[in-house]
Amino acid sequence: MSGDPFRDRRTVAGLAREIAAVARDLPRPVTLMEVCGTHTHAIAEAGLRRMMPGNVRLVSGPGCPVCVTPVSWLDRAIALGREPGTVLATFGDLVRVPSSAGTLEEHRAAGGRVEVVYSPRDAVEFAAAHPDLRVVFLAVGFETTAPPIAAALAEAEARGITNFLLLPGNKTMPGPLAALADAVDGFLMPGHVSVIVGAEAWRFLPERHGVSAAVAGFTPADVLAAILALLGRIVRGEPGLDNLYGRVVTPEGNRPAQELLARTFEPVDAEWRGLGVLPGSGLGLREELARRDASRIPVELPEPREPAGCRCGDVLRGEIDPPACPLFARACTPENPVGACMVSSEGACAAWYRHERWAREEAE
Ligand code: SF4
Repeated sequence: MSGDPFRDRRTVAGLAREIAAVARDLPRPVTLMEVCGTHTHAIAEAGLRRMMPGNVRLVSGPGCPVCVTPVSWLDRAIALGREPGTVLATFGDLVRVPSSAGTLEEHRAAGGRVEVVYSPRDAVEFAAAHPDLRVVFLAVGFETTAPPIAAALAEAEARGITNFLLLPGNKTMPGPLAALADAVDGFLMPGHVSVIVGAEAWRFLPERHGVSAAVAGFTPADVLAAILALLGRIVRGEPGLDNLYGRVVTPEGNRPAQELLARTFEPVDAEWRGLGVLPGSGLGLREELARRDASRIPVELPEPREPAGCRCGDVLRGEIDPPACPLFARACTPENPVGACMVSSEGACAAWYRHERWAREEAE
């Protein structure tokens, strides 16, 4: 027995047996969707998909922030990077994602300035050290990533660092969940986001959409326990919300982080790759912070163009598994990615390529 009860083989095997037993009573084949890049990889790495009975399908949804960021937003980032005296500061995940005008990596190779940072605060420090430059931080991520970005902006305000700007691209999860609720039988809720927003934030799923939601941690036992809870609810015909990550996630979430977000951002309509524009699903800067908003700088934009043949949008809606894309593991690999779902370490295509490609090839 391992020292970690959430990874213990016997615990995992016991949960898998319970899932198989409950699944015998399912009224129909069901689809459960996770919406978190860390869950995507946890499921793939531990081989949990292969443990599922034949009538339980696990799919990935729009849980990878880089993957859901649309081409049009990246086009704007690169157009801003071409403005004189402008440096783009970004997390590393974004630099190889294709836009209509190439990647940030290619923009840098062509002479553009791109600083890869490990935190938004690093970008503030860079701006402080280079007052002659305009530093635009490329703000992507969900409710988990947004608070440190808001904190960095507050720090820039407090220190009078006026050359630090954001290109707002943060998104919130309720919009896509509501959009996908009719297509799935249950959601595995993202543990990290739930720490910030609180488990109760997902109550609308059973109450308004009749679909169950289970907040899950990231070990194999965490994920299986959440799947078991969802299947039990489907069998009983009782849609509801379960918090299986109560050791970390509270019902109300992190109030100071929520207040910081409310002081910095306001809901705006936002475009998601594969889902289109979803009302109120983005975090735009509040009007009083307009001078920090790089999206207000006029730039010329190309017609948005997705990489030819890429089915990342279908993957993000859970309509196909990555191997159903004709380019998967052929023209598109982590070394030579065609689309965002293969570029990002959190992407479903990257997870399948790394952990489940062999199983699929054997099955074929
Ligand atoms: S395998 Fe590559 S081309 Fe196909 S959907 Fe995934 S990222 Fe796009």
